[in-house]
Order: sequence, then structure tokens, then C-alpha cells
Amino acid sequence: MTSRFPLIPDASLSEKDPALSALLREEENRQRAKLPLIPSENYVSRAVMEATGSALTNKYSEGYAGKRYYEGQQVIDLVETLAIERAKALFGVQHANVQPYSGSPANLAIYATFLKPNDTVMGMALPMGGHLTHGWNVSVTGSWFRSVQYGVRKDTGRIDYDEVRDLAKKERPRLLFCGGTAIPRVIDFPIFAEIAREIDAILVADIAHIAGLIAGGVHPSPVGLAPILSTTTHKTLRGPRGAMLMSTEEHAKALDKAVFPGLQGGPHNHTTAAIAVCLHEAAQPEFKDYAAQVVTNAKVLAEELLARGFDLISGGTDNHLILIDLTNKGILGKKAAQALDKAGMVSNYNTIPYDPRKPFNPSGLRIGTPAVTSRGMGAEEMRVLARLIDGAIDAAKRESDLELERIAADIAELSADFPAPGLA
Ligand SMILES: *Cc1c(COP(=O)(O)O)cnc(C)c1O
Repeated sequence: MTSRFPLIPDASLSEKDPALSALLREEENRQRAKLPLIPSENYVSRAVMEATGSALTNKYSEGYAGKRYYEGQQVIDLVETLAIERAKALFGVQHANVQPYSGSPANLAIYATFLKPNDTVMGMALPMGGHLTHGWNVSVTGSWFRSVQYGVRKDTGRIDYDEVRDLAKKERPRLLFCGGTAIPRVIDFPIFAEIAREIDAILVADIAHIAGLIAGGVHPSPVGLAPILSTTTHKTLRGPRGAMLMSTEEHAKALDKAVFPGLQGGPHNHTTAAIAVCLHEAAQPEFKDYAAQVVTNAKVLAEELLARGFDLISGGTDNHLILIDLTNKGILGKKAAQALDKAGMVSNYNTIPYDPRKPFNPSGLRIGTPAVTSRGMGAEEMRVLARLIDGAIDAAKRESDLELERIAADIAELSADFPAPGLA
């Protein structure tokens, strides 16, 4: 039987909306041809893509498995429970909530759980490597709450834990965040746990950047030290754009209530399904190899850049991320990032600790290895990349677009040898 009403015509995207379809093809080609060196980006698998583009996007599921406000949850409850069980097994936690829409709302749910307006939070300052949602002033986390910020030492580029302890004892925050967006070194969770214990604060480990490294066993885990963990799922964990909150049993109910109904409505079930898939992938032995290679690649890239006279914050890296102070190279971060993009390498300009310049045109450049490692690149390719990065920055200083084009051709060749996963 055919419908009596005009339905949404069941045409493909390219038939129905050629303009948008062409844009998608263009972006796919960009992702194939250029090399993403942004440390928070990655390529998801085809399996994750499939789950993201599934029929689960049609379903409303306010509530949690077994306690929903809508009918028809026979499958959704199983999907969400599977994601939760996989998160618990992979990270070794007692409780997981897979509903936060992204990392920032996940963090806001933590504030909603533990703080009242004007209570005190302590986190790492954004220009020092922290995240907006750790109490930075342009975020509501810095204006609705009383925020105290710590940083890194100017001489070492690393966190001074004595300074963090002194500040914490003086300011007595209720929440203490560790983790960030531009921290090239291992985060010392035991020391943070000790400081939190001394001032009776709740320690939150925001592992958004390093979740995949923790799952892969190449960065220490905060589990057992921080009662609350927050993570995005789309960075080193290589899943869909989304987030998870994990905790001890003690805080499970309160956290769940803060996410729904405290902050959110219906969960994005297609994302939940894709999170389940990425957690399954991250539990395979190959993922350990991937995580180890991400770190090896970053270390090789860092060594090669140091050998070429680049000034790296903290002198190198322990993880997937490298923060470059370009001051001695006589070029600003934005100009360098734009030149690298022209040359086929996509990075981002970034403030460096104690940056005398403004965030919109800072002194630094942030690069990382998660995405190029997903393309199968190893140490040999990192040596090539270091040479091409150096060449592109030199070309930018000389305003040589011709040289940038030559480098872009080399990158295109390299990209062709290492196809982007997930893009058929
Ligand atoms: C990326 C990130 C977030 C926020 O994630 P969004 O999904 O962009 O909101 C929060 N905290 C840290 C440490 C991050 O790196």
C-alpha cells in the first residue's frame, strides 16, 4: 500500500539536497587530502559513523534505562546499558553516565551536582592549558561561581604542585579540577588526590584529551584517586562527538540527576550507540597499539622539532600533544597555523603560558598525533612531518606561497599513502 499523503521523498542526500551534499563531499575530500594535527581531533571508524547516522536519531528517551518518560524504549534501554557497561569495564569505574551532549555540558553537570552559585571552584587557567569550563572568566563556570585558577611554572612549563596545594589551602574550593587542553605532560593524579583530601574538596579528573591514552594504558588512570571523571568521546578515544561522566557509586545518583532532568532533555541515542561502538573498539588489543603509537609519534615529532630549533613548552611531551612557543622563530601562532593549513597540515594557534599576546593572536601553536596515527603513520612519517612543518613556517616568514604549495603537494602524496579511516 502506498501512503495517501505526500511523504518526505525518500531520496538520497545528493538527489534531495545537492548543495548540502556537495559541501559534505568537499569536507570529506578536505579530511582525506590534508593532515589533521589538531590534538583534539581524530578519525572515527566506519562502524562509529554508521551508528551515528542510524535510526536511533528518531527516538526520544528522557530518563534512564527502566525509568523513561516515553514508551518504545525496548531497544534504546539495551543500547544505553551496553554503552554504560562497556564504559565501566574499559575504565574500571563503578558508575557511568553516557548522556551528556558534549564535554562542556558534562562539566556543567558536575557543577550542578556539587556547587551552589558563588561556591568556589579551582581549576587550571585556560591560557595555562586548562579548559574554559574549569572556571575561566568568559565561561559561566567562572562567572556564576567563585573561581580560583592555577597554572604552570614559567621556567619549567609544568604544574607546581606545591603552589597548587598552597592556593587550595588558602581558597578552600569545593571542587578541584585537573586536566586540560594544552598539557603536554603526564597529570599527577595521586598528588591532586592528596591535595583534594587535605582540603576536603571533590577532585574531578577531566580526561577529555587523554581518555584514549588511559584506555590504551599509556597514561596513568585517575580511577581510585578522583571520585569524578569527565571525558569527551571524540578526541583520543576516537568516538562520536559526545561525552561521559564516570564516578564512584557514592555520587552516581546525584550526577545522573544533574544531567537529567537538571540540565538536559532527551539523550542523543544515535550518539549513545556510537559511544558503545567506540568503547568496544577501545577495548580491543589493537587499541593499545594505537595509543602507544600516538605517544611514540608525538615524542619523535617533538625530538625532531627540538632538533630544528623549536621551543617546546615543558621541553617536550609525554602524551599526544605538543605546544610550541614560536617567539624565537619570529612568527606569530596564527600566521604559522594559516601557513601550515595552506601547506596541507591543519593545526591551531594557541596561547602559551604567560603569553604576552591576546588569545586571538597568540605566540603559540598546538599540534598533536591522534589523527595522523589513526591514518597509520609512524615514526618515519613524523620525521617527514617535522621537516615539512619547519619548511612551511620558514616559507611563511618569507611570504613564499610557492613554497607552501610545493609542501602541500608533498603532503597530498603522503596523505594518499595513508588513507583516512571511516571515509569510504
Ligand atoms: C574538549 C574539552 C572539553 C569540552 O568538550 P566540548 O565537547 O568541546 O564541549 C572539556 N574539557 C577538556 C579538558 C577538553 O579538552
